[in-house]
Amino acid sequence: MRKTIIAGNWKMNLSHAAALQLAEDVAAGMPAKPAPDVQVLLFTPSVFLLPVADKIKGKSGLAAGAQNAAEWKEGAYTGEISSQQLASAGIKFTILGHSERRILFGESDEVLKTKVDLALEAGLSPVFCCGESKEVREAGKHEELVGTQIRNALFHLSSEQFGRVIIAYEPVWAIGTGLTASSQQAQDMHAFIRREIVSAYGSDLADSVSILYGGSMKASNAAELLSMPDVDGGLIGGASLVATEFLQIISCAYH
Ligand code: PEP
Repeated sequence: MRKTIIAGNWKMNLSHAAALQLAEDVAAGMPAKPAPDVQVLLFTPSVFLLPVADKIKGKSGLAAGAQNAAEWKEGAYTGEISSQQLASAGIKFTILGHSERRILFGESDEVLKTKVDLALEAGLSPVFCCGESKEVREAGKHEELVGTQIRNALFHLSSEQFGRVIIAYEPVWAIGTGLTASSQQAQDMHAFIRREIVSAYGSDLADSVSILYGGSMKASNAAELLSMPDVDGGLIGGASLVATEFLQIISCAYH
């Protein structure tokens, strides 16, 4: 069966010392008995990836991941980090297509398709983000938009490749705004995404794919969101920066 994944997206926050402290506090506060079906991920700024990975080494069910990876394999791309480089440093996960990257850095579905391919080729599991803006939701076109995003960037993959992808549904209007999709809105979109995967790949594969919700998830709403049958975890921004809050969300994943 699919995993429940609780992922913290630290974005461009924290100093080196604060990042190590947060990683240490999360590792120390995780339930003593590991659950094989629960995975906690810390998506750190790239400069802290290896120190954080080192800090949490050996802690079962906890790993560090990158927030982005390049759309090129290697070469003269100053400032970029490739999927191959991440993998060679022992990193196993990367976020791809976060709405901040789509909006601020102009990442298109076409670019993300290439990034997904490179990540999978390098052996990484991408956390592929999709989600609609407020305008699209209000126009009632949210399923159409999210369906297009996942079809454009993911549906060329083989079943084996798709099986290594994690999807994060993140309505843009709920990210960092304090507005959360209701648990029913989240469930409806997650069920839609899973139905799309069923149509393309069949129900065995669709049932194995973890679909995370992101958008102002916090300790006070995590249990309800995570109780929905197609919500398999969370991608958490602001609330992942405070160990006690993030640990409360993690505890909702252990049942
Ligand atoms: C995010 O950036 O992925 C996110 C979900 O942020 P927040 O939890 O702060 O809304």
